[in-house]
Amino acid sequence: MSRGSELSAEGIKLHELERAGRLAAIEAGLERGHISLAEIFGSSYIFRALKPGINHEFRLASAPSYAQLYPDNRGVPRKVDAAYADYLISALGPIDRALVIGDTQSDFLVGEHLRAQGVEAHGIIVNPGIRAEVAADKDRHTWFGDNWGVLSNGLATFEEGAPPGAINTVMLVDIDKTVIGPRTTPIPGEKEKDCSFYIDEARRYAVSALARNRLLSGMPDELNNQLLQEWIETYAHVKGTNMSSSWDDEDTNAFLTAMVYFGMENIDSLLSGNAETAAEYLERMSHRLIHEMSRDELEAVLKRRAGEMGLDEDVLISSWVEFQIVIREIQDNIRAGIATPFESFRMLEYEALRDLYEQGRIFTNRQVVEAVQYGLRQGWRVYALSDKPDAAIGMPEVEGLRAQVTQNLIEAQSPIVD
Ligand SMILES: [Mg+2]
Repeated sequence: MSRGSELSAEGIKLHELERAGRLAAIEAGLERGHISLAEIFGSSYIFRALKPGINHEFRLASAPSYAQLYPDNRGVPRKVDAAYADYLISALGPIDRALVIGDTQSDFLVGEHLRAQGVEAHGIIVNPGIRAEVAADKDRHTWFGDNWGVLSNGLATFEEGAPPGAINTVMLVDIDKTVIGPRTTPIPGEKEKDCSFYIDEARRYAVSALARNRLLSGMPDELNNQLLQEWIETYAHVKGTNMSSSWDDEDTNAFLTAMVYFGMENIDSLLSGNAETAAEYLERMSHRLIHEMSRDELEAVLKRRAGEMGLDEDVLISSWVEFQIVIREIQDNIRAGIATPFESFRMLEYEALRDLYEQGRIFTNRQVVEAVQYGLRQGWRVYALSDKPDAAIGMPEVEGLRAQVTQNLIEAQSPIVD
């Protein structure tokens, strides 16, 4: 059974043109030993904002954004949501069969939700920690592995009984820790780490950079280290708290870290029984901090917190004044309908990731590139699917941040690793 509306003649023509270009670029990249996401995926990306084909010459001409398809819905669904699969079916046209390649439970769930909609969906998931969590998948729709060798077997099984050249077959490929920074693949020359280490490193760096830029500027040196340490421990505490998946993203974590750090929030009581989404929380909290709490109330919280930290209260209050810039930014972005309200944080992640690309520390997974190549040769439509916000790859929505972009990371070359 086909799900989704028919592809237009123009859509098929664009697909064929793009497919030929990608196959040539992939072949050249494999031979060179380095490649960019743009060469692997052409314009076929769906990032977190659910606006396909951003910033490229060959747009997915027929694919509408989430906001166009569902004008009454607030926010956009994440991979873990059933609504995400609904969007894929509506946006990408007819899908008979789907193969999801990824590294997390979110990726696994994309396949599950597509199948619930009548698509013959399978998954290939490489993550040594995930198998137990999804052991309920008794029907073997998904192949799990603790290394990328599982890809070739999975692909061969998926292909059995499939009609060749099927444009209604789609391959959906996760980016982080799947295409780039592959989980479980040792870093050449640094065998004790796997390639996903530097994807996390970019996030850790962004969290420290936020503290340096917005909390610690103008502080005496002897306090800097102590406060940075406190900040990093707070971040670890927030990350370690068992949050629902819609809350678990890096910009929300960074904001929550600040709230806990300043004593504005108790993370454990916040998350127990809270039915809000992360977006609703950001909106409510930024409004409260700017418009509802009086200066005296804010100062009382900060003084109490400074006492807990063994800190001069003026230090924490001046830090808070600096951080208010961030809260205003979040509120302005929510009003402007920006999909990632804490976009300046994602820009810090972008900058860290760009530096890591330049240092040759972001690697591309040969097995996944070859799987994409295989899919394109079969005539399948192959898309990159990522919950990464545009800003983290150098395509921020906010005008002022765009000026800071020196390279769009879609086009950055990275060495191919076996
Ligand atoms: Mg991933």
